[in-house]
Amino acid sequence: MIQCDWEAAYPLVWDRKDGHQEIMNFSEGYKAFLNQCKTEREAAAHIAAMAKAAGYADMDGVRAAGGTLRPGDRVLALRHNKALALFVCGEAPLTDGMHLICAHLDSPRLDIRPNPLYEADGLALMKTHYYGGLKKYQWAALPLAMHGVIVMKDGARVAVSIGEAEDDPVLYVSDLPKHLSAQQSKQPMGEGINGEDLNILVGSIPLEKSGEQGQVRKNVLRLLHERYGVTEKDFTSAELEIVPAGKARDAGLDASMIAAYGHDDRICVYAALQAMLLVRRPRYTCCLLLVDKEEVGSQGASGMKSRLMENLTAGLLELMGEQSPTALRRSLEHALMLSADVTLAYDPNHPEGFEPANTARLGRGPALTKYAGHLGKKDCNDASAEYLALLRDVFDDAGVCWQTGEFGKIDFGGGGTIAPFAAAYGMQVVDCGIPLLSMHAPYELASKADIYEAYRAYAAFYTTTRNMENYL
Ligand code: MN
Ligand code: MN
Repeated sequence: MIQCDWEAAYPLVWDRKDGHQEIMNFSEGYKAFLNQCKTEREAAAHIAAMAKAAGYADMDGVRAAGGTLRPGDRVLALRHNKALALFVCGEAPLTDGMHLICAHLDSPRLDIRPNPLYEADGLALMKTHYYGGLKKYQWAALPLAMHGVIVMKDGARVAVSIGEAEDDPVLYVSDLPKHLSAQQSKQPMGEGINGEDLNILVGSIPLEKSGEQGQVRKNVLRLLHERYGVTEKDFTSAELEIVPAGKARDAGLDASMIAAYGHDDRICVYAALQAMLLVRRPRYTCCLLLVDKEEVGSQGASGMKSRLMENLTAGLLELMGEQSPTALRRSLEHALMLSADVTLAYDPNHPEGFEPANTARLGRGPALTKYAGHLGKKDCNDASAEYLALLRDVFDDAGVCWQTGEFGKIDFGGGGTIAPFAAAYGMQVVDCGIPLLSMHAPYELASKADIYEAYRAYAAFYTTTRNMENYL
């Protein structure tokens, strides 16, 4: 088969001889961000603090004070402690459209169930319910941490973080020993470990007399009360997430990659955030919308299927003094959006999953994924040729390395993103994100070059003065 010369069509970022140090420096900031932000709540709080430090005012506060917004003004809105929007007001009216980058803060994980704690055979365990699409067998026999919040009946909040500090204990899901896995290893991989097997070990010391039932469980409750002042009932109003313990690490002998939990999608979040923080007084209003719940289908008040974007835009229009009855509709319809979500990188260990000419490679920059979805493009957005033409022009003009990507071989599976939910407003949307190896594994792999190049692509997108008029 003779195919397009991929190397010539989509140059490697590392071939640009100057700028390697910038790439390495940028990834240091990203690793620190990942280590601070293991959950959507931690990410939302951290980013809100970063934005405030960079001069973003609270949008609700501006409204409460009777303030207005003018070109160049910067505001942020935090919703449900899990979703966040940053805006920089443009010179043009909002109804001319905004430049919107949308990414998600949530990642696959194990959630602690509302009634989790039990004792069996002298060990205390907690029941979990996995969140998002994960390979269950990958979550056994590795160090895990617990992050989250317990909200007390009086509204007091207890932040929980166990397993990250060097001297902190970690948590653990056990697996059948290899010695006894003759039957297990004959099962399909998806059934080797099931959802109800993902119970985390949390204790083995009895409170008082050993041999008495329930003493180990009681001791765990005592420890939780001592450390956090909580009782068993308080799990009912808690969101506790089990994630891989430990820090993001450089990967490869040349340290060109990063192995970490939660690249999907905090890698695009970070790249887009750094681009957004550069924006000063753009022609078109810029927005960075960071949503939650993408990994479970985007339902919920903090997810993209909610009216979040609509409500925020209405609030922004009010503050910008644009109040015509159709202003909200026109603002959303004329928006240009990048759905900044990770895409699949071609894997030489598992080439069978990928169509080589239409799969993104590590190190060639962010990928424009015209469509994700399943089988015959089911549930995909399928971005328009006109919009892709505009973006090629923007990226090429900025000297950005970019490539194309798809979600693997046609009949192998696929994936969804938030793009279709934004497209429902009539706006132009395309997926434009960073390629990953081992997506949804406890440790995913990304190229440092791609993180930096995505940041450059997003920055070019935010500040371009091009609009769709020349393309339609
Ligand atoms: Mn994603
Ligand atoms: Mn995902």
